[in-house]
Amino acid sequence: MKLDTLTLQKKDAKHHIHPFSDYKYQAKPSLTRMISRAEGVYIYDNDGNKIIDGMSGLWCVNMGYGNQSVVNAVAEQMQELTYYNTFFGTSHPPVVKLSEMIAEVTPEGMNQVFFTGSGSEANDTMIRLVRHYWSAKGQPSKSIVISRKNAYHGSTMAGASLGGMSAMHAQGGLPIPGIVHIDQPYHYEACVEAGEAIDRAEFGRQAAQALEVKIDELGEDNVAAFIAEPIQGAGGVIIPPETYWPEVDRICRERNILLVADEVICGFGRTGEWFGSDYFNIKPDLMPFAKGVTSGYLPLGGLVVSDEIMAVIRDAAGEFEHGFTYSAHPSCAAAAIANIELMHQSDIVNKVKNVAGPYLAEKWHSLSEHPLVGEARSLGMLGAIELIKDKENFVRHKNAGEVAGICRDHCFNNGLVMRAVGSKMIIAPPLVCTNSEIDEILEKVWKSLEMTVSSIK
Ligand code: PMP
Repeated sequence: MKLDTLTLQKKDAKHHIHPFSDYKYQAKPSLTRMISRAEGVYIYDNDGNKIIDGMSGLWCVNMGYGNQSVVNAVAEQMQELTYYNTFFGTSHPPVVKLSEMIAEVTPEGMNQVFFTGSGSEANDTMIRLVRHYWSAKGQPSKSIVISRKNAYHGSTMAGASLGGMSAMHAQGGLPIPGIVHIDQPYHYEACVEAGEAIDRAEFGRQAAQALEVKIDELGEDNVAAFIAEPIQGAGGVIIPPETYWPEVDRICRERNILLVADEVICGFGRTGEWFGSDYFNIKPDLMPFAKGVTSGYLPLGGLVVSDEIMAVIRDAAGEFEHGFTYSAHPSCAAAAIANIELMHQSDIVNKVKNVAGPYLAEKWHSLSEHPLVGEARSLGMLGAIELIKDKENFVRHKNAGEVAGICRDHCFNNGLVMRAVGSKMIIAPPLVCTNSEIDEILEKVWKSLEMTVSSIK
């Protein structure tokens, strides 16, 4: 029997603990958004309202909802081998195929994959693996991982510690030892701090050089790796200046520090290349991934490791004491295989690069003409707008978070999912969005911005 919405909401408030939620709102259960169905780029709430999903779920439903080939592949796999593990030298056909398919699309020299159930677990795996690597190389003191403020790398103890979210660190005594943070390459924020436009290229170089300064301060012999998202996602779709990544790449090579590109959001086509690392032309040593590998149909993540690192680990004494019950779960692997096949068949990565990405960019940048928008930036199928009070002087609203929250609620009521992050509104629509679906998103953003102006008057 299908339950009515309010009954569902009340039961939900009674028994379900939501991630990243302030539970006080559950005192009013009718505020909970109940999503019951989805197809293509649209989700439908329990009352049948149609909403265009500007966030691909949580940046993951890259190929859109309800692709039958993925559903069928999972059902067939479940008939064949419901579950088996990959511990102690065991394997199964779906993981063999998937590992090969991933190696085919990763940058040169990256052909080995360790599977996890999520992006957070991929990042936990990364820390354990790089420390194991440096120990195996006879340099156990190289153990510190440098990350960035306002980065997001997951919600496990290590993931949240690697992340640079102060609100997450404030709960539970994080970060764990051995992780330090440098400033992010957030150009617009720097303009706000300066109260004027500052040179983007120079800012990018300086932001990268903060890494060099930190390595020197800590001592090269104590630093294992630097981790960064090619484009910061959850932090607010922060696209670094073009000068940033080449400089970071150089510093890591020169100082013998492993470069970890967290591809959980940027990976599998979102930038119009297979990986964000390809877009920025960098050569990472390790790439945590998740989300887009299955388009979110089933949970799967992993860590792509360079051949060079694996050669050292293979020769190390003893085993790598690490693994998850659901590492390379056969059904999740089947979902990933079918999803990647769909990506190849539809040539989606090139479509993002040559069609959807440029179309979104053209439309998105026109938002900067709106009086409430200080900057409209996008890359591939990622976009953000900076809500501002005084454009000329880069002055934000005093209650910037509240203004963005109002805008987000208008978006939702107008049938568009968009996320509010501090003073920003962000999108990451499915890669399969057509131009007319992009038009629909833009029309709803304009309308919601207008309504926000009225609301805050
Ligand atoms: N890294 C990045 C860059 C992410 O955006 C996320 C999730 N938003 C994670 C790691 C964590 O992934 P998960 O939620 O699957 O643990």
